[in-house]
Amino acid sequence: MRVVVTGGAGFLGSHLCRWLLAADHEVVCIDNLSTGRRRNVDPLLGDRRFEFHQADVAAAPLPVPGRVDAVAHLASPASPPDYHRMPLETLAVGSRGTEYALQLAARHGARFLLASTSEVYGDPEVHPQSEDYWGHVNPVGPRSVYDEAKRYAEAVTTAYGRRLGVDVGIVRIFNTYGPGMRPEDGRVVTSFVTQALNGDPLTVYGDGSQTRSFCYVDDLVRGLVAMLSSSVPGPVNLGNPVERTVLELAQIVREVTGSHSAIEFHPLPENDPTRRRPDVTRAAQQLGWRPEVSDAEGLRRTVEWFRARPAEVSAAAAA
Ligand code: NAD
Ligand code: UDP
Repeated sequence: MRVVVTGGAGFLGSHLCRWLLAADHEVVCIDNLSTGRRRNVDPLLGDRRFEFHQADVAAAPLPVPGRVDAVAHLASPASPPDYHRMPLETLAVGSRGTEYALQLAARHGARFLLASTSEVYGDPEVHPQSEDYWGHVNPVGPRSVYDEAKRYAEAVTTAYGRRLGVDVGIVRIFNTYGPGMRPEDGRVVTSFVTQALNGDPLTVYGDGSQTRSFCYVDDLVRGLVAMLSSSVPGPVNLGNPVERTVLELAQIVREVTGSHSAIEFHPLPENDPTRRRPDVTRAAQQLGWRPEVSDAEGLRRTVEWFRARPAEVSAAAAA
């Protein structure tokens, strides 16, 4: 396949590009580097099957010459500090950016994959979350620029499927972590790991009783590839159903890093979801997918990766 990956220089996107190349596909990566990093794709530039274009996918229809067999639309800020800093850009890439990416798929008769999010469930009243739950989102809250952009992205993707017959698939990704994250991205795993490695206090928001379910990046990318290669329309949850409180995560990170960092409590951000755990029955039934990497093993690999980058890790403390 020749696959266009928007957001391909980001955390998940660059892993996806590598997996596709390893499976002998051609990859066209489009990224404006707003939250992604050139260094994530630099090692791929020598591969003649890989192209990188620095461009904003929300600015204009995407001119991709040549054949396109699939479009994986991952472009969007994803970390709360990033989308708070770029609220209008987040709405633009979720709305116009998604439409331009869909138009590209429609023009080429290509498979379209939307990277949606567990955030479409908001602060869920149903637990665990299965795909038929419609969500509980504050449309004017601080997280709405991300949540509602993704809800719109799901709606427009579904409409292109129904009205224009585009072969679309939607995945709802739950918190994913691993090597390749930006040390200063502000997400909980990167924050705790960099804080622990720097010997700084781990910043737990609220009392740490809110829960998340953390998926290791290799598992997640395997799910993206399975979805891309199928004709399953979704939405399909992709995530690890092992649920942890944030305080538990802090303790696991201290154990894995061997750190004696203190735990420091900070105010809980407004509208922070209280709990989140995917029901992954549909992914198992329709894609034969289930996560395989445990928290302890995934965190061990992640910590090892960060340990090998001490300058970046100590710079994160200043960010
Ligand atoms: P990331 O910030 O590392 O990657 C996003 C990439 O999109 C970056 O490289 C950024 O530069 C690029 N981008 C943003 N706006 C763009 C635009 N207008 N034009 C071109 N490129 C643009 O985040 P990530 O964790 O890799 O997330 C990738 C996708 O997966 C996002 O759509 C995100 O919403 C979704 N997702 C991720 C998670 C997670 O836990 N990592 C969870 C749910 C959903
Ligand atoms: N969080 C925290 N300390 C941090 C960063 C985040 O306690 O330094 C909490 C945050 O309030 C949320 C959870 O960890 O309850 C996951 O946050 P993240 O930003 O990683 O993802 P999201 O809220 O989008 O699930």
